[in-house]
Amino acid sequence: MLRACLIEATVNPGGQCRYLYPDKRMYGVPGFADIRARDYIEILAAQCLPHAACVLFEHKVLNISKDSDGLFEIATDQSTITAKYIILATGIGNVVPNIPASIQGLDKLDNSSDFVQFYCINMNLFDGKDVIIAGGGDSAVDFAIELVRISRRVTLIHRRAEFTCEPSKVAILRHLAESNKLTLKTNANITGLEESEGCRTVLVNENSSDIIETLRTDHVIFCYGFSTQQSIIPGLTAMGLYESNGAIGINIETMETSISNCYAAGDVVTYLSKKKNIVPCFFEADRAVRSIKSKMDLV
Ligand SMILES: Cc1cc2nc3c(=O)[nH]c(=O)nc-3n(C[C@H](O)[C@H](O)[C@H](O)COP(=O)(O)OP(=O)(O)OC[C@H]3O[C@@H](n4cnc5c(N)ncnc54)[C@H](O)[C@@H]3O)c2cc1C
Repeated sequence: MLRACLIEATVNPGGQCRYLYPDKRMYGVPGFADIRARDYIEILAAQCLPHAACVLFEHKVLNISKDSDGLFEIATDQSTITAKYIILATGIGNVVPNIPASIQGLDKLDNSSDFVQFYCINMNLFDGKDVIIAGGGDSAVDFAIELVRISRRVTLIHRRAEFTCEPSKVAILRHLAESNKLTLKTNANITGLEESEGCRTVLVNENSSDIIETLRTDHVIFCYGFSTQQSIIPGLTAMGLYESNGAIGINIETMETSISNCYAAGDVVTYLSKKKNIVPCFFEADRAVRSIKSKMDLV
C-alpha cells in the first residue's frame, strides 16, 4: 500500500487547466467529447483526492534535500515533509504570454483597457462581442472554436497558411468558416492597434501586400504562445538532477530522474517527442507510481 502526500502551491487543484483556461473546452481527453477545463478538474479531483493520505494546498515547495537516512526532506513555506520517494509534477512554472513585437500602437494603449487580451481567462468578457484572435496554434484555434458559441463575430488571423494544431480542429475551423460563423484570414499579420473614443481598430496586412485593412472589433486576443520561466525546485540541481532549460530529463521506462528515488511526470519532463497534453501526463504519472511500487516490493 502506498501512502501519498500531495503538495500544491495554490489554493485549488488544476494547474494550467484551472488557472489558464477554465472556461475552454478540453480536447483529447478520453471519455469526454464536450467538457470545460474547470469541470474536468472537478471530476479528476473528486476521483483522486480522497485516496491521498494527505493533501496540502497553499504549500509551496521551497527546497528539497536528503537527510542522513537518504530520505527526501521537502521544505514548504509552511512545514517540512519527509518521504522516501518523490514525483515532481511542477508543470510549466511561471507562464508569461509572448507579447507580439512591432505592433504599432500596442504600447500606447491605456493600461486599464480590456481591448487587448493575452489568452482568455474570463470568457464572459467576449459574450456578444466582436473578437479577433491572432495565432495559429492549438490555443488560438481552441479559443476561436469556443468563442463562436458566445461571441457576435469571430475573426481568426494567422500569419501562415497552415495551422499548427490537431488536423481535426482545422476541419472544424474550415467548416465554421464555410458556414459563415467565423472569418479566417491566413497569411495575414496584425500590424497596428488603435483605441480612440470607444472605437477600437486593428490594422491587418494580408499576403505582405501594401494594402492595410482596418477591422473594427471589441477585443483582440493574442495567442502567440508562452514563454515559461520553468524553475527547478532549489536543492535538486545540487543533488545531481539532469535538466535542460527547466525541463527535467527522465528515464522513460521508469520516469525516474537522475536522482535515485526522485521521479517526474507531466509538462515538467522532457524526452524525445514529449507532448504537453493531458493524456501523456496520465501515462507518465501512472508509470512513475508503478515504478515506485515495484522498487518498494523489492526492498
Ligand atoms: C491555453 C492552453 C490550452 C490547453 N488545452 C489543452 C487541451 O484542450 N487538452 C489537453 O490535453 N491539454 C491542453 N493543454 C495542456 C495541459 O493543460 C497541460 O499539459 C497540463 O496542464 C500539464 O499538467 P501538469 O500537472 O504537468 O502541469 P500544470 O498544469 O502546470 O500543474 C503544475 C502544478 O504544480 C504546482 N507547482 C509548481 N511549482 C510548485 C511548487 N514549488 N510547490 C508546490 N506546487 C507547485 C502549480 O501550482 C500547478 O498547480 C493546454 C494548455 C494551455 C496553456
